[in-house]
Amino acid sequence: MDTVVTVKNLEKSYNTKKAVNNINFIVKEGEILGLLGPNGAGKSTTINILSTILSPDNGEINILGHDLKKGTNLIKQEIGIVPQEIAIYEEISAEKNVRFFASLYNLKGNQLNNQVKEALELVGLYDKRYDKPKTFSGGMKRRLNIACAIAHKPKLIIMDEPTVGIDSQSRNHILESIKILKKSGITIIYSTHYMEEAEEISDRIIIMNEGKIIAEGTKEELKQKVNDETTYSFNLDNLNSLTDKQFYKIDGVTKVKILKNTLEITMENSKDNINEIICVITSNNCRIENMGSKKASLETVFLELTGRNLRD
Ligand code: ADP
Ligand code: MG
Repeated sequence: MDTVVTVKNLEKSYNTKKAVNNINFIVKEGEILGLLGPNGAGKSTTINILSTILSPDNGEINILGHDLKKGTNLIKQEIGIVPQEIAIYEEISAEKNVRFFASLYNLKGNQLNNQVKEALELVGLYDKRYDKPKTFSGGMKRRLNIACAIAHKPKLIIMDEPTVGIDSQSRNHILESIKILKKSGITIIYSTHYMEEAEEISDRIIIMNEGKIIAEGTKEELKQKVNDETTYSFNLDNLNSLTDKQFYKIDGVTKVKILKNTLEITMENSKDNINEIICVITSNNCRIENMGSKKASLETVFLELTGRNLRD
C-alpha cells in the first residue's frame, strides 16, 4: 500500500507556545486515520499545516508525492479540506455553494454538474439543493461543508472535528458518508475529541496530547497497550455464600468485588477462564440473572497515558 502522507519532525509554535512538538506519522492509501485528542492537543494546527493553510516552523512533509516545501499548488488540487469552522455562503443555495467550490478546480459542464449532484447526494442534501444554508440546522451546514470539500473528488480528505455541536442524526449521516468515501478508495484524516467516533471509523488512530503523539495504532493495539484485562459483571439472585477467595483461586483473576446484587470479576484477557467463574457461581446455588463485560476503552488508554480524561 502506498504512503499518501509523510510527516517528519513537524514543529509549530505560536509565540512561545509549542502547539505541535516534533511529531512523526504517515497515512497510508485508502485508510481512515483518526487524530484523537482533547482541545488544545494540536490537532487543528497539524491539520492546517497539512491543508497548506499554515506554514510549519520545522519538519518535512510529503503529500501525495509532493514536497510541501516546493509549493502547495499541486497539493491543493488533490486534497479536500473540511475546516473546523464552517466555511460556506449563507445567502446562496446549497447547490451553488458546492458548484462554486468545485469550479475552483477547473471542473466544467456535465462533469461539474454530475460531481455537484453526487456530493450533495452523499451528504443527504440533494433534496434541499435549492435552499439557502441560512435556513439549515448546524448539522446540515456541516454536511454542506463536506459536500463543498469533496465535489472535486480529492484523493485525500482532511476533516477537522466535523461533528462538534451537531444533532446525532447529522452526526451519524456524516460518519456513514465517510465510510462510503473510504469504500471508494479515498484516504481520510479525521480529527476528533470523541473517542467513540475515532473507534467507529478509524483504521488507525493517533492520540495527541499537548502537541505530541502519545500513542498510535489500531484501536485493538492501543487497548492492548494499557490494559489487557476484561471486567465481567454478574447480577445474581443470591450471593451471600460467595467469597473473594473462591474466585482468586482461578488463574488470571486479578480483582474480585462482591456488591449487593452484583459480582464483578476482572480477568487477564490471555487467561479467559470465564467458565470456571460460572462454575463457582452455580456451585454456590446462585442464579445468574444478567451478565456483561467491559474491555478497556480508548478513554482508559488516554487516562492511563496522561492522567486525565479526554474531555477535561
Ligand atoms: P486542537 O485542534 O487539538 O484543539 P490547536 O491546534 O487548535 O489544538 O491548538 C494547539 C495549541 O495552540 C493550543 O494551546 C492553542 O491554544 C494554541 N493555539 C492555536 N492556535 C493559536 C493561535 N492562532 N495563536 C496562539 N495560540 C494558538
Ligand atoms: Mg481544533
